[in-house]
Amino acid sequence: MTGRQALLEYLNTLLQPELFRDYAPNGLQVEGRQEIRTLVSGVSATKALIDAAIELDADALFVHHGYFWRGEDPSLTGMKYQRVRALIENGINLFAYHLPLDAHSELGNNAQLAARLGITVDGGLDTSEKHPIGNVGYLQHACTAQQFADSIKTALNRKPILVSGGTHPVKRVAWCTGGAQGYIEKAVAQGVDAYISGEISEQTTHIARECGIHYYSAGHHATERYGAKAVGEHLEAKFQLNHKFIDIGNPA
Ligand SMILES: [Zn+2]
Repeated sequence: MTGRQALLEYLNTLLQPELFRDYAPNGLQVEGRQEIRTLVSGVSATKALIDAAIELDADALFVHHGYFWRGEDPSLTGMKYQRVRALIENGINLFAYHLPLDAHSELGNNAQLAARLGITVDGGLDTSEKHPIGNVGYLQHACTAQQFADSIKTALNRKPILVSGGTHPVKRVAWCTGGAQGYIEKAVAQGVDAYISGEISEQTTHIARECGIHYYSAGHHATERYGAKAVGEHLEAKFQLNHKFIDIGNPA
């Protein structure tokens, strides 16, 4: 068991949101009850995840995708009202961490994805910010582009879209979970054989083909399923919480 404020302070020390220029507030987004015994973690603070948390009588939710994104209508109406109302009526604290959760060197989405794909991390992808976003690294053994697609499918239980950038094998790779297909040119600049992210845009294909880099669109949700779970398990051990990660499937 722990207190709301103690948990917030611990998370801010662990994830260091002050190092990131983010698109949404990181930390406690919706205040709930004071004492936290049961924690539910998940990828996105959807109504389905909130309903599952209510079912478990959870005191707090920890997610990667919270609310109040830059540029969105800030009014609490419609879908957003229903979500926030359900949280408040049930006293559930909503903790959300976006880029800081992608980037944590052990518990983050990128580190967790690397571990599942057998990649050794040896640097950052976008190093222009205070804290790097995305990573570069290497596979123990080079393989073909298709073999790597097959191992991503096995690891994430979801078939990736592979855009071949040529006939070269895959050894050095870059990756950034979620909707980071726009970083493909940063991967090209790093001279890697392949780039992995969650989504694909029309132009991603052309960049992969013309710059000679294999591209894997492995699922926004599928690539970001592991950070919130890892932090939830970490908090469970640290504060003796009841914790459950709930995966609300998403084909995107
Ligand atoms: Zn995301």
